[in-house]
Amino acid sequence: MRPFTYTCVTTVEDALKAYDQSAGVRFIGGGTNLIDLMKMGVERPAHLVDISRLPLSAIEEHEGGLRIGALVTNTDAANHELIRTRYPVLSQALLAGATQQLRNKATTGGNLLQRTRCYYFYDPSYRECNKRVPGSGCAAKQGYNRIHAILGASEECIAVHPSDMCVALAALDAVIRVEGPRGARSIPISEFHRLPGNTPQVETNLRAGELITAIDLPAMPYAKRSTYLKVRDRNSYAFALVSVAAVIDSDEDEIVRQAHIALGGVAHKPWRAVKAERMLTGKKADETTVRAAAEAELQSAKPYHDNAFKVELARRSIVRAVLTASSAA
Ligand code: SF4
Repeated sequence: MRPFTYTCVTTVEDALKAYDQSAGVRFIGGGTNLIDLMKMGVERPAHLVDISRLPLSAIEEHEGGLRIGALVTNTDAANHELIRTRYPVLSQALLAGATQQLRNKATTGGNLLQRTRCYYFYDPSYRECNKRVPGSGCAAKQGYNRIHAILGASEECIAVHPSDMCVALAALDAVIRVEGPRGARSIPISEFHRLPGNTPQVETNLRAGELITAIDLPAMPYAKRSTYLKVRDRNSYAFALVSVAAVIDSDEDEIVRQAHIALGGVAHKPWRAVKAERMLTGKKADETTVRAAAEAELQSAKPYHDNAFKVELARRSIVRAVLTASSAA
């Protein structure tokens, strides 16, 4: 690991003052992803600003919804009474991620910034990786790409976003609160992460020096009937091959008023299944209708030589998650 210097701050103001992009400064909270990347030589910060003691660890009621501080651990968020009862999809997604030890340390703010688990990104002995070394190529396109994207990829990068939590946040229309040199602002989760395009090294729309302070969940009474389905190679400590967060609002005749469906493991960002949502709205969510909606969503899927299975897996996962959420409704 490359040597680095370290300071610890206790106020958001001091954290913002300590940031200096040109000097290679990085914020560190739980460190469960950043430290791994530093050990592997993928991330090489010159100076770490420890933000773990900032007063950002509260979960509070906010405008009918909830405000989750950026330093709330994944464990505390998953087990919080108001999240478990009002937004079960988020609690389930958090508990599906990583391991208990990692969840105890990892923060919700850091979870938003998790980097892809593409094998070639993590191993600097591979020369080609546009995300690690812009302009160097993409080893995954011709290499082993079983875990890679089937939606929204580019010629430059076919990696997927790894977080479970963010898939649930996408279905819940969460808003990310940040503070930076130009003041505070709010970023809808749909605009927080980016598709790779020709700049896969730029993964979010955070500006230089901005610090995530909270995640806002809007009031969504029907989210208490929601579900997270994660399909993976083993039942713990594995990233999603495909995951689905489904929040379904139905009337007394089981007609869908609103459907919120987001997919994980298939794209460079949590993938909001807007085509499927549109097809379900105003219809009864039976197996035939949901299957047709899933087919429509996956029509633009472009698999690579090792991940064609993900297309059918995603279709079936949408069907199962939506029917589960609908039956809860
Ligand atoms: Fe790098 Fe993206 Fe290609 Fe993986 S898929 S090797 S992260 S450019």
